[in-house]
Amino acid sequence: MNNLIKIGQVIPSTRAEGPGNRFAIWVQGCPILCKGCCNPEMLSDANGEFVSIDSIIEMIKITGDIEGISILGGEPFAQIEACLQICEQIKETELSIMVFSGYTLGALKKRNNPEADRFLDCIDLLVDGPYIAGQPEQQRRWIGSSNQQMHFLSDRYSPMEPQFNSANSVEIRFNDGELLVNGWPQGVKALLSKYK
Ligand code: SF4
Repeated sequence: MNNLIKIGQVIPSTRAEGPGNRFAIWVQGCPILCKGCCNPEMLSDANGEFVSIDSIIEMIKITGDIEGISILGGEPFAQIEACLQICEQIKETELSIMVFSGYTLGALKKRNNPEADRFLDCIDLLVDGPYIAGQPEQQRRWIGSSNQQMHFLSDRYSPMEPQFNSANSVEIRFNDGELLVNGWPQGVKALLSKYK
C-alpha cells in the first residue's frame, strides 16, 4: 500500500478553513482546472512534495487545540487512497473531518468506487463542486462560488449552528516574516488587489 501523500501546503492551525481551529492539508494536483482557481500553484502534479501518511498523522496528533482537520487542494479525491488512510485514522479520534472537493457529491457517489465511498463515510462536512469565478459566493462561510454546497454527512455539525450562517472571512497571518492570506477566495483577491 502506498503510504505517501503529495501535498502543496500544510497549516497546523487555521480558523479560515472550517469550524474552529483546524489542521489544514492542501493536497497537490487537481484535474478539474477551474478557471480562476484560487490555488493555481497546487494544480500541477509536478509541484508539491511527497510526505508520509505517518508523518502527517503525527503532526496532527502533536498539534494542540484543534477541532478537526480540513483537506483541500488540489483535489482530495484525486488522492483517495492517501486521504482515506489519513481520515480513517483521524476518525478514531475526537477530531472532525472537513473536505473541499471540486467534484459534486452526486458525481462521487455515482463512481461506485469502494474507496471513494469509504472516504465519504469518514467526512463530517463536504463542500462540493467546481469553483465558478462568475458566481462568487458573497455570504456563506467557507464557500467560494454559489454553485458549491455544504453537505453535513454526519451529525457532528448542524446547518442551524450560527457559524454556518455567518459571513465569509479572510485570515491573515505572519509567519517567519511572510504575509500569508487564506480563506474566502473573493475576499483574498479583493484584499491582495489593494496592495498590488
Ligand atoms: S477543484 Fe478546486 S483546486 Fe481544483 S481547479 Fe477547481 S478550485 Fe482549483
